[in-house]
Amino acid sequence: SAKEQGKAWHIVFNPAMYDRAVALLKLETDLRWAIARQELQVFYQPIVSVATSKITGFEALIRWQHPEKGFISPAEFIPVAEETGLIIQIGQFVLSESCQQLKRWHKEFPQLQHLSMNINLSGRQFSQRCLVEEIQQLLQEHELDPSSIKLEITESAIMSSPEQAANILQQLKALGISLCIDDFGTGYSSLAYLHCFPIDVLKIDRSFTNRIDSDGEQLAIVRAIVTLASNLGMSVVAEGVETVNQLVQLRLLKCDQAQGYLFSRALSSDKISLLLGNGE
Ligand code: C2E
Ligand code: MG
Ligand code: MG
Ligand code: MG
Repeated sequence: SAKEQGKAWHIVFNPAMYDRAVALLKLETDLRWAIARQELQVFYQPIVSVATSKITGFEALIRWQHPEKGFISPAEFIPVAEETGLIIQIGQFVLSESCQQLKRWHKEFPQLQHLSMNINLSGRQFSQRCLVEEIQQLLQEHELDPSSIKLEITESAIMSSPEQAANILQQLKALGISLCIDDFGTGYSSLAYLHCFPIDVLKIDRSFTNRIDSDGEQLAIVRAIVTLASNLGMSVVAEGVETVNQLVQLRLLKCDQAQGYLFSRALSSDKISLLLGNGE
């Protein structure tokens, strides 16, 4: 009806939405510049063994230092990068930087060959034709053992196109790379369904980890995830561990690894080198 159309017209030209569209466009333009001006940097957050608290590897996390606006969170610009396709370039940058950095650490600290690198893959990157080839080339170029690379994919990236995902995951798996489900528990997939994919690691989302020391139901959920994962031959990483109490609970549950501010935030490669040089 005319009334509804009037309403729709009003929604489309809502000034707040217009402002948001302009802001997004500006962010996109800035992001293009950021790539050209090399304002993007990869930081590394330690992942530790729950049993020993020793570092087993890192998650590569992108950082953007904007010349005027200062630090911009990836939670803000990764979705824009996804929408505009810029994620492909950014993703290639993160893959190449983090593989190179892992090799440097392996060379610098020969006793730490076990250190691995987790790298986030966005949905769009994941459905890119030459992804498998690119990763294979990086492994060769940096002479990395494929098992030291762990790719993180969200449930929604897999479930948006399960058949294609299964195919790519099989190819990546065939290279010898490990595959992780990121933010596990926040998507809509079931563990039974995930079993159809060659997944090695579940990363429990921090919304669950957050409350395991205060909320019995959250504890029960995490316990169920750890048990099922172990029955399916997968290992479990708890994300967002911030308190000693949470770590104690994770030890009792025999969760394999953890990551969070309790241990360390994501740091520059220089700071991580210092940390590793000091024997962690
Ligand atoms: P994610 O992959 O789930 O990464 C974990 C996020 O949790 C990181 O936020 C990390 O800094 C944060 N975190 C870790 N421990 C704690 C904790 O104890 N407490 C709290 N409150 N937060 C913690 P960050 O770096 O801001 O990244 C946000 C998201 O942006 C990532 O979530 C990931 O989805 C995306 N992202 C970051 N870097 C990349 C990238 O290189 N490529 C892609 N495709 N996505 C990325
Ligand atoms: Mg991640
Ligand atoms: Mg996560
Ligand atoms: Mg996340």
